[in-house]
Amino acid sequence: MNQFLSRRTFILIPTMSILKLISKPLKVLASSLASKEEWNLSKDEWKSRLSPESYYILREEGTERAFSSPLNNEKRKGVFHCAGCDLPLFLSDKKYDSGTGWPSFWDSIKGSVETKVDFKLIVPRTEYHCSRCGGHQGHVFNDGPLPTGKRYCNNGLALRFVSE
Ligand SMILES: [Zn+2]
Repeated sequence: MNQFLSRRTFILIPTMSILKLISKPLKVLASSLASKEEWNLSKDEWKSRLSPESYYILREEGTERAFSSPLNNEKRKGVFHCAGCDLPLFLSDKKYDSGTGWPSFWDSIKGSVETKVDFKLIVPRTEYHCSRCGGHQGHVFNDGPLPTGKRYCNNGLALRFVSE
């Protein structure tokens, strides 16, 4: 690679990233499909069950503002359920303070969440959703604490906490 090319590439890459962000389609992706037929609800059915904020996260794969959820500081013993269908997803003893501003867990209840890769921020991220209703919960990263090394970064609005 000659000097001109490398300099041009240096300028092109950030420019292209910005353009991609600007030209990002406004239409959001529909959330994942439910695994159980009875949870394949229509948009209107979901809208009548959920608050507009929870609908945006669970059904349109939105993200709440960091540090906005009271569940971020929830330290009681209990279980975190899917706000869409009430399936238990996380136990409080797997919750930890990641400092990110979102409720974070280093493990989920076995079989409760499924993952898929999304490219919403250009860089691929692993999205995860409730295995029963398909409702979007958050993203899972590989920078969590041991023993799993996972960080499930969850939207508080997608969860319902049930204390013990
Ligand atoms: Zn669910």
